[in-house]
Amino acid sequence: MLISPRIDREIETNPRPMRLGIMGGTFDPIHFGHLICAEQAREQFDLDYVVFMPTGNPVFKLDRHVSDAEDRYNMVVIATRKNPMFDVSRMEIDRGGITYTSDTLQEMEQKVPKGTELFFITGADAIISVLKWKNSDLIIKLAHFVAATRPGYDYSELQEKVENSPEMRGRVSFFEVPGLAISSTDLRERVRAGKSITYMTPVSVASYIKSHRLYIDDCD
Ligand code: NAP
Repeated sequence: MLISPRIDREIETNPRPMRLGIMGGTFDPIHFGHLICAEQAREQFDLDYVVFMPTGNPVFKLDRHVSDAEDRYNMVVIATRKNPMFDVSRMEIDRGGITYTSDTLQEMEQKVPKGTELFFITGADAIISVLKWKNSDLIIKLAHFVAATRPGYDYSELQEKVENSPEMRGRVSFFEVPGLAISSTDLRERVRAGKSITYMTPVSVASYIKSHRLYIDDCD
């Protein structure tokens, strides 16, 4: 597999420059906020597809328990399977080692048809630290960044930082996602406390969490 089942098929049968969203995240677990975010980014940035990219071994989370990559991947697959514009990639999971976005974007760049534009979509809090990521200069050249913000948070300082950064200016778009009031952290805490997560994540994901006993004994 190159990128993901649907994108590989497109590249094989109908190769053309595309506008591809890459939805990067730990997804521990995926929730409706992520799904709304991906769908709104697809619409707003006129994307052909959004490829969800669960991180394999996230670099900034080496000090806390992160659920098994296969569980996080499975939950993303079951949450996205009904949307023909969504797909899920195993690239970061199968690569092994610590996950760096620069490796992913470089690999993507080599695999997609020439002229394809990449849009890296993730939480604004993550994006603001991009300049500290490995090979940040390359990352910023390879993709346009879409920074999803939670309602009620004041991101003006973050926006100002981007505007004042010659590398990032014009390479980051902020957009507010109403559903992002939901957070993975809150979901994990609710499961641990025996509280309901109904209406926060698809029923299929909630069932997966229950049957695999995720988050019950973790300590972050
Ligand atoms: P995070 O720090 O867990 O997330 C920061 C915030 O963004 C959280 O509020 C999170 O909410 C939200 N968020 C995360 N992914 C999102 C998405 N796709 N859409 C909307 N909101 C999202 O971030 P992370 O998940 O570890 O990393 C995000 C991406 O940045 C991943 O692709 C990761 O590989 C990449 N990254 C790369 C490097 C590097 O290359 N050095 C370093 C850090 C991160 P939830 O908790 O509810 O998701």
